[in-house]
Amino acid sequence: MEEIQRFIHGFRNFQEAYFTEDHELYKSLKDGQRPKVLLIGCSDSRVDPSMMVRSEPGDLFIIRNVANLVPPCEHDHSYHGVSAALEYAVCHLEVEHIIVLGHSRCGGIRSLMEGVSALKSNEYISKWVNIADRAKQQVLKTFKDASPERQSKACEHASILVSLENLLTFSWVRERVDSSILHLHGWYFDIESGNLYSYHPQSGEFELLV
Ligand SMILES: [Zn+2]
Repeated sequence: MEEIQRFIHGFRNFQEAYFTEDHELYKSLKDGQRPKVLLIGCSDSRVDPSMMVRSEPGDLFIIRNVANLVPPCEHDHSYHGVSAALEYAVCHLEVEHIIVLGHSRCGGIRSLMEGVSALKSNEYISKWVNIADRAKQQVLKTFKDASPERQSKACEHASILVSLENLLTFSWVRERVDSSILHLHGWYFDIESGNLYSYHPQSGEFELLV
């Protein structure tokens, strides 16, 4: 219960900050949100987007899932949670930027690289991370003799590119990107060094951003 008490106390601080000292922000947000940025991040507890970029309520529309993956556009009767949130952000909120934020030491990417046997329970995880299978195949070819750590890192990078490519399979994303009203970004957070990298299509590299 100690953990829960900590968070109740944390919420009290939040409440004081935004509903007592400064109620202007939530007053302006009560009738609707207008975030300009959609961020797609990993569920990993070490990579909290709002905390990392010090955003305020209303700034970021966030989708978090295992390994920060975007599935390709599919027209079937499955439950497409990521696609639904993406559709809402792009078509209804009309965000101007989408950031796919990957990170080092990602458990989801490690399970993709190591395969089913690495996990105790795996009814959903391997099917989900398989979205990035082409990243894995590419890494196994390019980094054939590298250590598992190096391969995982390369796959963390490559899977961000797969997600960026998959975003373009949604016609309403592609159209907006083509007309430059929507911009896509690939970011990578190194949890060991604390550095943030950004993908540069011209160089094909993740270059230091901060
Ligand atoms: Zn992760």
